[in-house]
Amino acid sequence: MTETLIPRSPRPLDSIFSPRTVAVVGASRRRDSLGFSLLHNLVINEFSGAIFPVNPTAAAIHSLKCYPAVAAIPDPVDLAVIMVPRAKVQGVVEECIAKGVKGLIVITAGFSETGKEGAALERRLRETVRAAGVRMIGPNCMGVINTDPEVTLDATFAPTPARRGSIGFVSQSGALGVAILNVAQDIGVGLTQFVSMGNKADVSGNDLIEHWEDDPETKVIAMYLESFGNPRRFTEIAKRVTRKKPILVVKSGRTAEGARAATSHTGAIAGTDVTVSAFLEQCGVLRANTIEELFDVARALARVPLPGGFRVGIVTNAGGPAIMATDACVNLGLHMAELADGTRAILRTFLPPEASVGNPVDMIASATAEHYAKTVAAVLDDPAVDMAMVINVSPVLTNPIELLQAIAVVARERPKPVLAVMMATDEFYDAVKTQRDLPPVYHFPEPAARVMFLLARYAAWRRRPADLPAPDFATDDAQVAAILESVKDGYLDQAAAFRVLELYGVPVAKWRMTSGHDEVLAAAREIGYPVVLKAVASNLVHKSEAGAVRVDLRDDEELGRAVVEMESSVAAAGHTVDGFLVQEMARGGHEVIFGITTDPRFGPLLMFGLGGKYVEVFQDVRFAVTPLDAEEARDVVRGIRGFKLLEGVRGEPGADLDLLVEILLRLAQLSQRHPRIRELDLNPFLAGPDRTSARALDARIRVGEPPV
Ligand code: ADP
Ligand code: MG
Repeated sequence: MTETLIPRSPRPLDSIFSPRTVAVVGASRRRDSLGFSLLHNLVINEFSGAIFPVNPTAAAIHSLKCYPAVAAIPDPVDLAVIMVPRAKVQGVVEECIAKGVKGLIVITAGFSETGKEGAALERRLRETVRAAGVRMIGPNCMGVINTDPEVTLDATFAPTPARRGSIGFVSQSGALGVAILNVAQDIGVGLTQFVSMGNKADVSGNDLIEHWEDDPETKVIAMYLESFGNPRRFTEIAKRVTRKKPILVVKSGRTAEGARAATSHTGAIAGTDVTVSAFLEQCGVLRANTIEELFDVARALARVPLPGGFRVGIVTNAGGPAIMATDACVNLGLHMAELADGTRAILRTFLPPEASVGNPVDMIASATAEHYAKTVAAVLDDPAVDMAMVINVSPVLTNPIELLQAIAVVARERPKPVLAVMMATDEFYDAVKTQRDLPPVYHFPEPAARVMFLLARYAAWRRRPADLPAPDFATDDAQVAAILESVKDGYLDQAAAFRVLELYGVPVAKWRMTSGHDEVLAAAREIGYPVVLKAVASNLVHKSEAGAVRVDLRDDEELGRAVVEMESSVAAAGHTVDGFLVQEMARGGHEVIFGITTDPRFGPLLMFGLGGKYVEVFQDVRFAVTPLDAEEARDVVRGIRGFKLLEGVRGEPGADLDLLVEILLRLAQLSQRHPRIRELDLNPFLAGPDRTSARALDARIRVGEPPV
């Protein structure tokens, strides 16, 4: 019987990752050159196909026959790695295309990263390869590795090879690529493929995610990024792919770039970095702070099942590290599982009487491998436990590897993740490096807790409904647009800002705009005492600081006096009073802030948090990019540190949380449909226990030309 092979359908990047032949254009005999190192890596890592060095001045390099030009190679060439001087790259690329080469890796630097001239050369390269239907990695990159045993391609000049594993890794930076391969080697993490993508003139991070999307060998996609080329496309692809496999990102530039030139609270708090975090989170992408943390998470994701929730059981043989572990878990937002009576009873049957059978389960220092195995089994079998952290210190009684093997047997039979914290020697860590069937091990409880938290977050993302549409509120957008057009560039006046909110279904405290003394009194009687008086003056942004806000005015007399006093205090602050805003005096509820700002890359950005004076002190806010669905809006509201306050503490009534979510969604629609809004601050919005008691007390909207 003949066996029919079903050929795998070819993928766009196959010529780069799985070539049968490789030409190295710019190969060199000089041992200290990149042109030698790269060729050397191809050879010593035993590339499965043929290698053709190209260099007009050498007859042979690295014992391989050398060709004067690509055209002179007699065989077909699938992939060409180009490392000639910048001025020659375009010519070589054209030569490769004429020869029928399908994949290109351009190592040579000096393109868009150096300025205008380089950018023009890079544009021309892109146009050339796109027109020919050829795919190109780079320029300005370190190359590509494929550990597939059928291929074994190391087309990089990095000194460290990669071992076979299940992580697809892409690095935007070449220099960091070298470090990434070193770290991977050190901790024994294996990769399916590694790509240093350089300037991304053709192949982008998005293309690579799609390449790994359905690759069964790649279980985790890991990325080191410095920028997002096309955030919209990234969102679309990442939201889809993270349903199938995790994407981990280290994005450089974590430190805030300082407040940008913004006058709103929202704009001042929103640095590029919080935007990126919000953006990644909404795409289901996990963000790691460092390369080390990325690998910590990646090796867990590659080995353990996803947890069903956020509840952790801790098993230990010493009290101290269990306390550290508990603190770390709770601080991250994980929960300590409440073990069932049945579980405690089982533990009592075999643990010594001094052992503690609550969570953390402290088996005390005498614990053996058998104690560990039985305890981990009982803890994992408890329905209140979603995952377990197993801690072992100063192993006098057991060989730590045997201990880990005993735990592995128990863990393998149960669909819950187990992470081990082993305070053991370097020899131990060297020995477990390559053992893929053991639970992932960590030196300390904190990184293990962080990994558990990210696993739980990712699992929650996988459970949530996909592709919820953003809600569509009925709004009079023509009228809103007309108001926004009334100012070319700058702040809307108070009345206009309140009207925009009202048109968008955001409740606003009763207000009247007035000019003279008599009008103020008439407005107050109409609204009903007590009232709030605010002076209106152009360029008066922070009203309270100029004495332009007086609250709780109870009668004509108090109000009349306030008008006179305010006129002088506002004048003293250097402003001319144009009129007065009279508002109902709102009471009760929590002061929160809603905001909109715009990011040149990511578009409109929504903010929510504790408002009033809390904004400046605590900056307890969360951001979200648009479009925003109901689930995401809920995450934003629930995600602030002070959420418990909004739920109501110590008998104090909470806020109408559904209404807060709805307002966030309404503002998201406003920001998306009206790009003339550059910034918006609702601060404070008074969030009362129900719909009728919630309202905006202050609003500021800055408009301007939308960016093209
Ligand atoms: P600004 O932010 O320009 O200083 P606001 O209009 O926000 O001025 O007023 C300052 C503070 O006064 C608010 O944070 C709020 O605590 C209080 N306040 C403002 N308007 C009202 C109102 N209508 N009812 C109750 N308190 C108010
Ligand atoms: Mg205010």
